[in-house]
Amino acid sequence: MSEKKRRFYIRTFGCQMNESDSERISGLLARAGAVKSERPEEADLIIVNTCAVREKSEQKLLSYLGRLAQIRNKRNVRVAVVGCVAQLRGWELLGKAAAVDFVLGPDNTAELLTLMQEGAPQKHVSTSRSKEWPETPPGLIQRDSQFSGYVTVMEGCDNFCAYCIVPYTRGREKYRPLRSVLEEVRDLAGKGYLEAQLLGQNVNSYLDPDTGRQFPDLLKEVAAVQGIEWIRFLTSHPRNFRPEIVETMAGTRKVCRELHLPLQSGSTAVLKRMRRGYTREAYLDIVSRLRRLMPGINLSTDIIVGFPGETDRNFEETIEVLRQVRFSNLFSFRYSPRPLTEASKLEDSVPKEVKQRRLEEVQRLQREIQLEDHSRLVGQTMRVLCQGRSRKTPQLFSGRNEGNQVVNFRSDEDSTGRFAEVRITGCGPFSLLGEKTS
Ligand code: SAM
Ligand code: SF4
Repeated sequence: MSEKKRRFYIRTFGCQMNESDSERISGLLARAGAVKSERPEEADLIIVNTCAVREKSEQKLLSYLGRLAQIRNKRNVRVAVVGCVAQLRGWELLGKAAAVDFVLGPDNTAELLTLMQEGAPQKHVSTSRSKEWPETPPGLIQRDSQFSGYVTVMEGCDNFCAYCIVPYTRGREKYRPLRSVLEEVRDLAGKGYLEAQLLGQNVNSYLDPDTGRQFPDLLKEVAAVQGIEWIRFLTSHPRNFRPEIVETMAGTRKVCRELHLPLQSGSTAVLKRMRRGYTREAYLDIVSRLRRLMPGINLSTDIIVGFPGETDRNFEETIEVLRQVRFSNLFSFRYSPRPLTEASKLEDSVPKEVKQRRLEEVQRLQREIQLEDHSRLVGQTMRVLCQGRSRKTPQLFSGRNEGNQVVNFRSDEDSTGRFAEVRITGCGPFSLLGEKTS
């Protein structure tokens, strides 16, 4: 690194895994003496961490790169595209977007350390795969939050759902040694963090490479770390969400009473074509078990509408499951054909307008359900981990309750980074409103 401190800016598209990767990249560069910048206009290196899950995510990236080209025309700045689109498109990206200098797949981001230095090559592409878990010394990660920390426990996916590009961009599953996970969680606790969020594309298939211990053991070990009060994890897959995991959650009080369990479709026929590996009934059985052992647990999900061949009746079955389960939050997507996937070989048979109509129906129903379920919480007092002032309404504070619902609240005191007891006084479909009581 040269005498003058190099400045980098990082923009993240996509899921929590990407946010977590960006925090690791920031830590890596900061340890080498570089300084994180809040504005791309001030940086020597702009890093764009990308998502390839839907076509729209790639389009958003290209339009962002178009905007960066304007900055790049005015001053000497290098642009690195990293993550899933980098892995998928490789050299092709250099031809597609003039603003791009470096392209690095998810396993190659440590190369930014050399590419940051003066005298780095003009153009560079690296998308090689590694089977090893990258060494992540505790304390390396530069986190955005001072009280809730992402901890990646596994990477990649072996499931090959018919629509999904992730196994091709993130590669096969690899697991972080339990010892390394625990070092990281202890480091968080030592710094006063109250919440750990364990991340992976498919966390419930976790297997410690050193000892063969599985996800329930990981949960118990993390829960034994003093200081961490709330534990969340995502994403879980219904295919291997074994009863033992439900029992461990129920028996481990620090594990928050909420679970993100992607359903994708309520039709067994569609699930089969999606290669999800479970039926509607098997999914509903998991829900019953969760609710039996943890009454009141909040469940959230992902839904894809318009998968090839999805009929009106198939879609109706999804609506039925949404009415039955009453998810507390839902992410819905129009099916988007992705390169390399099995479904991309099928005809994208559901017309765009039908996909749009189905998407709107799912979202309308979900809004109704959330509003009704939120109204039932009015009058209750709940624990909220305060994240700071609400961005939309700065006179309120904002945080999440144990069930992962957003709670905006009035308070005379700033409890950012701490728990607050909040009495719920009102609600909308997407958040609760309250007053701090203590
Ligand atoms: N591993 C998780 C799981 O098992 O569902 C999800 C990972 S994926 C990044 C997040 C969500 O994106 C999926 O749950 C799915 O609903 C959605 N998704 C993935 N591929 C898609 C596609 N081709 N079209 C539309 N939505 C898609
Ligand atoms: Fe994609 Fe399926 Fe793996 Fe989730 S489980 S990342 S949807 S292939």
